[in-house]
Amino acid sequence: MIRRLIILLLIVGCVLSESKNTTITSRGNMIEYMFGSHKPPQSICLTKEKRKEIQYQLNENIIHLNLDQKLFRADNHVVFSWPLLLNDNSNDYGYHGVSGFVDNNLNYNDNLLDYNCGSRTYDTEDYNHQGTDYYLWPFEWNKVDDNAVSVIAVSSGIIIGKRDGNYDRNCGGWDTDYSTEWNAVYIQNDDGSISWYGHMKNGSLTNKSLGDTVNIGEYLGIVASSGISTGPHLHFETYKDNTYNQLIDPYYGECNNYNDDTWWIEQRPYYDSAINKIMTHSAPPEFYWDECAKLENINAENNFTPNNYIYFGAYYRDQLANQSSQWSLIDPAGNIYDEWEQTVQDFDHYSSSYWWYSYLLNNTVIKGEWTFQIIYNEKQYEHKFLICNNSSIPDNACDCDGNIEDECGVCGGDGIEEACECKNTSALNENGCCDDIEDLGCGCGENDFCLSINEALIPDTYVISSIYPNPFNPTTTISFSIPEFGLTTITLYDMAGRKLETLTNKVLSIGNYSINWNASSYPNGVYLVRMESGEFTQTQKMVLVK
Ligand SMILES: [Zn+2]
Repeated sequence: MIRRLIILLLIVGCVLSESKNTTITSRGNMIEYMFGSHKPPQSICLTKEKRKEIQYQLNENIIHLNLDQKLFRADNHVVFSWPLLLNDNSNDYGYHGVSGFVDNNLNYNDNLLDYNCGSRTYDTEDYNHQGTDYYLWPFEWNKVDDNAVSVIAVSSGIIIGKRDGNYDRNCGGWDTDYSTEWNAVYIQNDDGSISWYGHMKNGSLTNKSLGDTVNIGEYLGIVASSGISTGPHLHFETYKDNTYNQLIDPYYGECNNYNDDTWWIEQRPYYDSAINKIMTHSAPPEFYWDECAKLENINAENNFTPNNYIYFGAYYRDQLANQSSQWSLIDPAGNIYDEWEQTVQDFDHYSSSYWWYSYLLNNTVIKGEWTFQIIYNEKQYEHKFLICNNSSIPDNACDCDGNIEDECGVCGGDGIEEACECKNTSALNENGCCDDIEDLGCGCGENDFCLSINEALIPDTYVISSIYPNPFNPTTTISFSIPEFGLTTITLYDMAGRKLETLTNKVLSIGNYSINWNASSYPNGVYLVRMESGEFTQTQKMVLVK
């Protein structure tokens, strides 16, 4: 076996390596594969002087706005929800990695200690990293262009500072001109603690002004690379109060020297091993880590004809030595066509790594929708792709006849039931149901729950009027109003934007409704409830604290 290891770039904390190899699968097809890993280089994020300047300015704002008077100081510190949210329609499994935790060792010059007694942090000759850096992965510059990842408030609080208007595609890190400013939002949380969110996209910051309140989970801006930065990431930093005497490391572990418990509602594992994205490509993905802010060439492709190479790609975060991944190709009949295994052996930990395997299918394979599947760290990841004889079907085709998904997500579907479920009201009877579907008193079709209807008031606007209690454990009641007859969907998402449950997807008449959600099978955390009816959509946050 020939193994090629090319270190293309080695700056402080930045490793990029690639190796190309071949593997023989159970089916005997020879596959070429490529492994690469990437960890964004680390940067100072803020100079000492700039940090002082910001602290001074924020305190001026606090005095000027008389914000201390508005503070509700609880006995306990607030708890944080996750600071990022995926906005795009990709349905990707993840989008980030951690490039640096808070440095809990106050000595400088490579005296590194993260909360877990490891060294996933950094310092300089006079600076310890004071925040946590979350970088985008994979295809970070495409994500910036697409406004794919939002920064959202980890706690409710008051905006005490905001800075926008600065260039957002910096890559220089340590070499950046130290006068370079970042785009940032500064929030005094409900308990008086102060959180800084930095490096955001130019012009993306919340419209809210100094002194305005923000809710937990509320949009603050888009992840980008303004200020002293090596690439798109969020720098998130918290202090106990506005004296700035006590830094908070929100992650709790044996070597956290700042505070004595976690500040997260749900603290993620130190090694948060997962696959962020699984996909098919027409050619290998191209990254340009040595060219500043150059858009990656993703070469995404879902439609293939036989006798052409398919590149199967997976983008991991926190991949560890000896973790194995089972890769399989499942044909349209649901049978495993081929499978192989992949592990990392020669390195302990990759913040981000990627693998692609090129594969050639012959003309005899079943045409139709195939599934590319990986089982990794006890979780199953899937991506669908097409193999057809016809190469001229549309990019978004969902079968080899060139059909595309209808509004219901059904491939080429246009049946009457689908029409009813999908906002086409022309096929509805006088009860607002499809002709062949009965109204069981709570809406059309089968009822595994019942909406309770409050008819005392005729609403004049669409709204999620309340979520009570919130925070909750483990059930809460979501109340909403529908001013116009129509299909109404109430869907629950986690903070990564992944759909968990659809609470209702029914045609409702005008009225006020409430519906219960029992979250006993879900972990602590912040959840989103999204209501869609007619042209209206609204999203609200709920906090589950068990
Ligand atoms: Zn940072």
